Amino acid sequence: MKKLAPTTSTDNRRLWQPDLVYSILLLIGGVAAIAVSAADSGLLAGEYSWGTAGFFLVFGLFSIATGFPHPMFGHVSFDRVAQVCSILVLGPVDAAWVNGLASLIYPWHRLRLGVPLRTVVMAACHNAGLMVFVILGGGLLYQYLGGAVPVRVLDLNAGLLLLVLIIGMQAINDLGMMFILYLRHSDPRMVFNRFTAIVEYVSGAAGVVLAIAFTNQSLPYFTLLLLVFAAGMLVIMQYALMRYRLEIIVEERTEELKVQAEKFERQATHDKLTRLPNRRYADTYLEQQINLAQRTGRTDSLALADVDHFKRINDGHSHAIGDKVLVRVAQVLSEGCRNSDFVARYGGEEFLLYLPDTSADRGLQVCSQLRRAVQDTDWSDIVTGLNVTISFGLAETRDSSRARTVINEADKRLYRAKREGRNRVVAA
Ligand code: GH3
Ligand code: MG
Ligand code: MG
Repeated sequence: MKKLAPTTSTDNRRLWQPDLVYSILLLIGGVAAIAVSAADSGLLAGEYSWGTAGFFLVFGLFSIATGFPHPMFGHVSFDRVAQVCSILVLGPVDAAWVNGLASLIYPWHRLRLGVPLRTVVMAACHNAGLMVFVILGGGLLYQYLGGAVPVRVLDLNAGLLLLVLIIGMQAINDLGMMFILYLRHSDPRMVFNRFTAIVEYVSGAAGVVLAIAFTNQSLPYFTLLLLVFAAGMLVIMQYALMRYRLEIIVEERTEELKVQAEKFERQATHDKLTRLPNRRYADTYLEQQINLAQRTGRTDSLALADVDHFKRINDGHSHAIGDKVLVRVAQVLSEGCRNSDFVARYGGEEFLLYLPDTSADRGLQVCSQLRRAVQDTDWSDIVTGLNVTISFGLAETRDSSRARTVINEADKRLYRAKREGRNRVVAA
């Protein structure tokens, strides 16, 4: 049977959501339905005693516990074996309260696993309530049509009635599951799938075989069958758990690989020192942007910026100080640009700026501001008496449709900026 697994994504929601209210009402309705059904004849009115009811309670709990988490359908278990068997031995009313009680008891151990109380209460009420209606609905229909309780023979007539019982139970269960999925805004169609249907019908058939052995008083056969079925259920459960754990491991590994791949991707496209995009990445980016600018008729600006006399900083202080200066220059340039602008480390102490939708006039203003920002930067926490300036060569994408040509143009202007005395922007 598919059941509400107590671990759901709804754990953190407000207390009185429709699914909890519905689950509690379902349980109250189930208790009322048993009371009404038992009003005439009372509980355990058939040939069997409280001891038999106790056996089915334990068997019911065992069959729920031999469940496993299905990656898509929640908790799948073999409890249909115990349900069908108990209906055919005790009758629907007693089977309903015995199995309902097992469903009510079962989820509480999950509190120790850290599952929130609200979720456990909901699973207990929902599963117990639905169980009662599944058993009473299917079982009373079976009896109404003439199905025997306790069942002793399996002829054609009995076989057809048992089929009605099992299909009826399945239909009520599916309806109930669809409704709770609907309340939880999940897809109700999730209820229908071949795997759980096979589990249900095979479990139902196993329940019939066990019931016939039980009511025919063949204790050795019954015990043997019970052991074989129980062992089969345990084997399938272990296999399913193994698969489930494997899937979790695969998921974790996939996530780790994704993180690694992102790290490698970042390493391949970004500069370690300044954390800016590197030249390789910048070239790809430029190619795309310039194509886009051409297609859309947009005018973009591209600037190459080079720290002035950087060699002197390295030589006069140290390479380590030089590194710190580069990191800060990168910061100043990035912070001085818009989010849509692109700043990359294009060479040793050379930076590339790409300003989309920016004409040369506006680009000149931006670069002049950045030039001043570098000039005005306070370096006293790195080294005293340091002055750092930077020169810019600026070009418009209108100048060419080819990235290389635009860069060459900017480079020529940068060279002129250097020749004309540095600490300046050359834009034409
Ligand atoms: P100019 O004003 O003409 O640009 O002079 P410059 O000294 O800045 O130019 P040059 O090309 O002669 O020197 C650049 C120096 O930058 C040389 C190189 O050792 C240094 N450099 C390149 N990459 C790094 C780096 O990652 N860290 C440090 N500290 N220095 C670097
Ligand atoms: Mg330089
Ligand atoms: Mg240089």
